[in-house]
Amino acid sequence: MPIRLFDSLTREPRELKPSHPDGVFRFYNCGPTVYAPAHIGNFRTFVVNDVLRRLLELEFGADKVKHVRNLTDVDDRTIGQTQKEKRPLAEITKKWTDKFHADCDALNCLRPHVEPTATGHIREQVSMIECLMEKGNAYRAADGSVYFKINSFPGYGGLSRIKERELKVTNTVADADHKDSVSDFALWKAYKPEEDGDVKWPGPRGASEGRPGWHIECSAMSKKHLGDTIDLHTGGVDLLFPHHENEIAQSECCNGTTFAHHWYHSEHLLVEGTTMSKSKGNYYTLSDLVEKGYSPMAVRYALLMGHPRKQLNFMLDSLRAAESALRKLNACFEQLYTKLKTLPEVPTRKVHWGVFEPVWVALVEDLNTPAAIGALFTAIDQIPFASLSESESKDLYIGLTQSKAMAFGIPHTLEMSASLSGSGTLKGSANLSIVERKNSEVPAAITALAEKRWAAKQAKDFATADALRKELAAAGWSMLDSKTDYKLEPVKK
Ligand code: AMP
Ligand code: ZN
Repeated sequence: MPIRLFDSLTREPRELKPSHPDGVFRFYNCGPTVYAPAHIGNFRTFVVNDVLRRLLELEFGADKVKHVRNLTDVDDRTIGQTQKEKRPLAEITKKWTDKFHADCDALNCLRPHVEPTATGHIREQVSMIECLMEKGNAYRAADGSVYFKINSFPGYGGLSRIKERELKVTNTVADADHKDSVSDFALWKAYKPEEDGDVKWPGPRGASEGRPGWHIECSAMSKKHLGDTIDLHTGGVDLLFPHHENEIAQSECCNGTTFAHHWYHSEHLLVEGTTMSKSKGNYYTLSDLVEKGYSPMAVRYALLMGHPRKQLNFMLDSLRAAESALRKLNACFEQLYTKLKTLPEVPTRKVHWGVFEPVWVALVEDLNTPAAIGALFTAIDQIPFASLSESESKDLYIGLTQSKAMAFGIPHTLEMSASLSGSGTLKGSANLSIVERKNSEVPAAITALAEKRWAAKQAKDFATADALRKELAAAGWSMLDSKTDYKLEPVKK
């Protein structure tokens, strides 16, 4: 059964498949803005994308999916925070990036294969802006900023059908004076000492020094790490307009080809009927909930208990229900362990779901996570534990592990060994290759370290860059820098 996912562009479910001849599915997910803690609304989006990534890997093969998720570490909000706190940008973004990573790990979200930062890709953004200026899609304004000329791209509005709604939203009073048209948007923002502090880079040819606009970062990083055309681009529903509409305009005008074959937007998490958001202050972080005694897995469960394309109202009661459901799931594993002499190998590709087939069916039909979790528990209820043979138990164990990994993720063998140590029979023998496997070439953790180091070097934070180089070396990788790029190589022994 192919994976069918709602496509925001055509507004219907469409099959997901790799379009490149190498068979690698190229997946870009807009990442967090690292100026404050991510709240569980943000994590609804990231957890949904994690299930999607796991589904893609099971369908196409773990080495046939490339997942890129950026970190927005320079924009109005991050700069605003440096002004508020009177601390350097890199210090603030590092703090919240580390917290984001810790929360992702706690929620069992797989790290993306590449996690590029906006500050680490200034050069790529500048060259894309220069390309748009040369092609006549962008112009320099009187203050030295650069704007994208919306009426130079006839396809503008195709994703959001914005023409039907009028182009009002991009219009900001602050920069209205400099633009040819109120709906043009900023690609490059000229440096303003009173607002920007010391955050500035040399601009595109002919423009002032300053910093990139928010939208160009995803176009440039997606091009660098996934190429001109990607298979799937995702984010929360608020990103559809103007962020994704602008990304399409920038990428398609510069590259002269289709930007993304498929767009997917998940809906928001609400609190008492309104969107959970940092600016409204009506949010819970993962730490808030852990402090109240809930486990991160219960949070993950609760976030998946609404259809991702429908708004979900968050309630603490749902965490209590989640905890009891998870206890039931663990009890089911415990019962299976007692029937098994050794744990069977869990295949990394879809082979045998058995009674758990409905879990897979629910997920491949537009990522229906609540139906999948419902199907998982229905299947568990029907297992005749008392009369199971070893081979039946083996099949059930494989199906259950795969279903559990889809919905909840399993970080590494430790979790399993820990839970097994209680039963005393199978300690340490778990083979969870479904989640343990490494990327075919450079491990994601190493790429992440390298990206961090490159970003630090670009930001002229040489102390951090050196420390990260040492960390990489200790992990067995050396980073070879050229002026504009880097290469990772295993340290020769
Ligand atoms: P930000 O850190 O604000 O750039 O947002 C990171 C991701 O979280 C984006 O994909 C947003 O669309 C998404 N997001 C923001 N608020 C919510 C919410 N209340 N519920 C679900 N996703 C959200
Ligand atoms: Zn983005």
